[in-house]
Amino acid sequence: MPERIYFDHSATTPADPRVLESMIPYLGEQFGNPSSLHETGRVARLAVEKARQQVADLLKASGEEIIFTGSGTEADNLALTGFVEAQDHEAVHMITSAIEHPAILKTCRYLETRKVSVTYLPVTPDGLVEPDSLAAALRPETRLVSIMAANNVAGTLQPTGELARITHRHGAVFHTDAVQAFGKLPLNTGQESPDMISVSAHKLYGPKGIGALFVRKGIALAPLIHGGGQERGLRSATENVSGIVGFGCAAELAREEMSPEAVRLVRWRDEMAEHILGSIQGAYLIGHPYRRLPGHLCLGFSGLEGDMIKLMMLLDEAGVSVSTGSACSAGHQSGSSYVLQAMGFDVLKARGSLRVTLGRFNTREEIDRFLKILPEALAALRPVTTDFFWVH
Ligand code: PLP
Repeated sequence: MPERIYFDHSATTPADPRVLESMIPYLGEQFGNPSSLHETGRVARLAVEKARQQVADLLKASGEEIIFTGSGTEADNLALTGFVEAQDHEAVHMITSAIEHPAILKTCRYLETRKVSVTYLPVTPDGLVEPDSLAAALRPETRLVSIMAANNVAGTLQPTGELARITHRHGAVFHTDAVQAFGKLPLNTGQESPDMISVSAHKLYGPKGIGALFVRKGIALAPLIHGGGQERGLRSATENVSGIVGFGCAAELAREEMSPEAVRLVRWRDEMAEHILGSIQGAYLIGHPYRRLPGHLCLGFSGLEGDMIKLMMLLDEAGVSVSTGSACSAGHQSGSSYVLQAMGFDVLKARGSLRVTLGRFNTREEIDRFLKILPEALAALRPVTTDFFWVH
């Protein structure tokens, strides 16, 4: 029985064995509370601060600019709500895109109930936010712009440098949700780059339940969680020491291995796309042809858009884990994808896509095996679908 193929790295990644090894002492004998002043506490504090620097290094930032959070979702909430609540302006306007993760979109909806006005920028059919549309949406009272670095469904990469430049010229703050991009591509925190960046360990072979927000020095935020004043008062709670240590290790490994890994995954991704689009009738690529995450393919199959869950389950039975749309957003399995609709797909075409995302431990053999399994699964699906169309 061949081993299961895991092609769902945009949902989550397996922890790297080196990450697990780094965490084990902090789940056992090194159990201290980093706030304790004695030796046991100091050991934990040192480990947390080392990890903070490792995460900062991957962003070319300073350790003081990293706030650990409980997830990427929490980092997004802190960036938006924390920023808005720290403003003493009467009117606050912010801008985001229509294809953000729910961690951003639902926070925006919440902020709208708190008298913040929000503009949701459209995207091109490739999933790109056009810099001109941002420039046109800026208003005198615009204080914050939040545009994701990479989309979790389509895989499209946004021109965050240019979007940040336009935002800064206007005197506003630029945040990016880089949960999908962090550890896969270099993210810069130089001058014309984001002022706040949300990241999450479980997307880069680290543990789940630990994230971070990069906040450039000088940007004021209000905390969402009140208590003992950890994380510079911005995220009270005893730190998740083992999770933070694992995150630090994962960030360091990404810094060392990101470039060759990205080159390999881009090559395999493009070979897979070429093979699938060239051999399967009706197959099409969703998202930008090359401005996309290294191992990320989002595929559609004409006429089968409503059957993507069935296809995913057939692949699951054949030993392949992939997803339809985004596994991180509750309710994604029903109705239409708001991301695909924003990219101009009609309601029927936006019903489904197959997301195939490669990662660090995949092999060429797995790709070859998948390329044989996929047409078989589609063949098993097509007769059922054709019957469905003819009978009804
Ligand atoms: N933002 C994006 C773009 C994501 O893809 C995800 C999860 O998939 C999140 C935020 C949420 O991160 P977390 O799972 O750490 O809460």
